[in-house]
Amino acid sequence: MTGEGRATGASERALDALLELQDLDTAISQLEHRKAALPERQLLAGVAAALRGVEDRVSEVETSRAALVEHQEALESEIAAATARRELLEQRMYAARGTPARELQAMDEEIRHLRERQGALEDAELEVMVALEPLDSERAALQAESAALGTEAARLRSALAEAEAEIDAELAVQRVARTAAADAVPEDLRSRYDALRARLGGIGAARLVGNRCSGCHLELPSMEVDRIRHLAPGTVVTCEQCGRILVPTSSATAGSSAPRPSPPG
Ligand SMILES: [Zn+2]
Repeated sequence: MTGEGRATGASERALDALLELQDLDTAISQLEHRKAALPERQLLAGVAAALRGVEDRVSEVETSRAALVEHQEALESEIAAATARRELLEQRMYAARGTPARELQAMDEEIRHLRERQGALEDAELEVMVALEPLDSERAALQAESAALGTEAARLRSALAEAEAEIDAELAVQRVARTAAADAVPEDLRSRYDALRARLGGIGAARLVGNRCSGCHLELPSMEVDRIRHLAPGTVVTCEQCGRILVPTSSATAGSSAPRPSPPG
């Protein structure tokens, strides 16, 4: 499995450029991930959901209120009609000299009925008003809550835009650097790297740090490491375990933003 077919020539410079390209791609992926995972985004979604909940409840309350208000208006118009009829009868009675006693008695009876009816209607209206009270206070509370959520949403939107703009500015710088780094990598090596990167979670080129591949974090057999370290500089090697392009580095050049094995413990 130490096949020579996997080792092809490139320049040392090309491999350095490839590692730089990988570092930039890693940095770009991290920035994109950070942008997608900004906490403000999730908080904003939560506030939007809460706002929808409040709005749904407002519309329920409005529907209940509207039914009660309609009932109240119907009662008030019945009260007004009964009152008008009673007042008319009362005027007639006071002005009714010479009206037959029988007729006066009938009018008196109707007035009594109208008073009773008015009393019953007024009681019913009072009940409606009592039922309206909690709905009115709930509506006021919901309106206050909605306003507070709206303020919070606006604050989060502006914080999100600010954080995104910051990351975008950083991304723009890294993308310019990436273009320059990519230009320094020979095309065949770059297309191999791009294919590996697409297949292997964004990492196509790894460092050989000590005995370990920084791509899969596995140790290579000592003989394989020894073989790789004695190849002509610039030889393109593949990690046996993960298939990534493996670039030997001395510990002095291993420091970078590329994924590296975590220290033990
Ligand atoms: Zn590996």
